[in-house]
Amino acid sequence: MKVLVVAGARPNFMKIAPLINALNAHNRRNGPSGRTITYKLIHTGQHYDTKLSKLFFEELNIPQPDINLEVGSNSHAKQTADIMNRFEDVCLQEKPSHIMVVGDVNSTIACALVAAKLSIKVIHVEAGLRSFDRSMPEEINRVLTDAISDILFTTEEDAAANLMREGICADKIHFVGNVMIDTLLQHRERAAQSTILHQLGLHNQGPKEYAVVTLHRPSNVDDRGTFSGILEALAQIGGRLPIIFPVHPRTQACLRRFDLLSYFSGFMGNTPAISNNGGGLFGIEPLGYYDFLNLMSNAKLVLTDSGGVQEETTILGVPCVTLRENTERPITLNSGTNVLAGLKKENIVECSLRQLNTPGEKRTPPLWDGKAADRVVNILVNEASSPN
Ligand code: UDP
Repeated sequence: MKVLVVAGARPNFMKIAPLINALNAHNRRNGPSGRTITYKLIHTGQHYDTKLSKLFFEELNIPQPDINLEVGSNSHAKQTADIMNRFEDVCLQEKPSHIMVVGDVNSTIACALVAAKLSIKVIHVEAGLRSFDRSMPEEINRVLTDAISDILFTTEEDAAANLMREGICADKIHFVGNVMIDTLLQHRERAAQSTILHQLGLHNQGPKEYAVVTLHRPSNVDDRGTFSGILEALAQIGGRLPIIFPVHPRTQACLRRFDLLSYFSGFMGNTPAISNNGGGLFGIEPLGYYDFLNLMSNAKLVLTDSGGVQEETTILGVPCVTLRENTERPITLNSGTNVLAGLKKENIVECSLRQLNTPGEKRTPPLWDGKAADRVVNILVNEASSPN
């Protein structure tokens, strides 16, 4: 078995890190027997700057990519096409038996499509999640990637039903748990040593007396009216406790383009000491994994449109308000600390106050136990040695 492991964007790096560790551990154990899984790491370059890429490789100890396709930012079609164009050459040269893609970004579908056309088997980690909202670019990527995958690893039990409803054969589906949570559990202690609360002046607040927000989905930040409604809600909640907002680069661009910086009490370099202020909305640069995990773990409330953050707050037991109309991760609502607020200002404020006053109980979804990547590799080893 020779696998090309693909990663392209920030949320992919937390998912490939434990998979690579598990592949390395398997290969160390099985070197003498020759039953190793050869792999190469391909970075598509969908995210390329230090804050969204390089930092995560360093912190999560991910080896340098063997090949970087360096596609960079572009429209969805052009970026997907560029990845396909360059990844096809890599596949023809490397001749892998399998490729492994994670999540739901453009790199996921682009590489899966190239491989499927070359009769290379596609492994999809985090298969079967569905928001049932085809206006989300990620939903298109999920549905199409799953349709052409040969081995599908799922994070929650509902995912198999979603896949089978779309005609995917049960034999291909394996419920293994959540590799992103493997990373969280592995790095939690190290993240506890981060000095981010001191750096932001939050150590002077009472414990857990601040909220964190992340936003980057096009449906939230690409429309001025929607985005300003969300910011109005955040400014109102910010009257109760300071809100720290590590701002994704595409969100920073929208804030500037729409002239919405007046909602912030401080933005980037112009952040006044948060502890002296008492409340308000504070924009900071996107954080590395350790700093963000520390900030999120100690928060009283997290507001987000991120898929990964909904899952991480579930495990951390931190109340989460999801600023979307739907979620492809229903387990975070059913057995987690997450609530869906939608995008109306009044609903966001009401859900946030409810979460602050009566936070939900922490429960751990099945198999979110830090061993998902080991399960993936064990199943791949069995596949490799099976006659089919
Ligand atoms: N994250 C981070 N720094 C930040 C914001 C998020 O390290 O400033 C992490 C977060 O903990 C999670 C991942 O980035 O592991 C989520 O990525 P993102 O929200 O970009 O993608 P999504 O999960 O929505 O696909």
